[in-house]
Amino acid sequence: MLKVAKTPKKRIKGTIVIDRELCKGCKYCLAACPRGSIAVDEKFNSMGYFPVRFKHPEKCTGCAVCARMCPEIAIEVWKEEDD
Ligand code: SF4
Ligand code: SF4
Repeated sequence: MLKVAKTPKKRIKGTIVIDRELCKGCKYCLAACPRGSIAVDEKFNSMGYFPVRFKHPEKCTGCAVCARMCPEIAIEVWKEEDD
């Protein structure tokens, strides 16, 4: 029987950068994130809103759903492959 060696799957790791001054705390990104990586910050910003923060970076896949949901364009997404 022919055996085929499996290539290990590379894990896609994501990271996001949230502009807390642009964020108005609508939580659309938090609700949309499939990995639960986003949470509300305890400190308000200069506009008086409680912005979101990147609470669980280890869970992020870089899917960019959060950035697509954000009406303020306050989220930047970066992706990299883990070796
Ligand atoms: S990129 Fe995807 S997994 Fe990462 S925080 Fe945004 S929605 Fe969540
Ligand atoms: S969707 Fe944008 S404005 Fe709304 S909470 Fe998330 S980062 Fe803030």
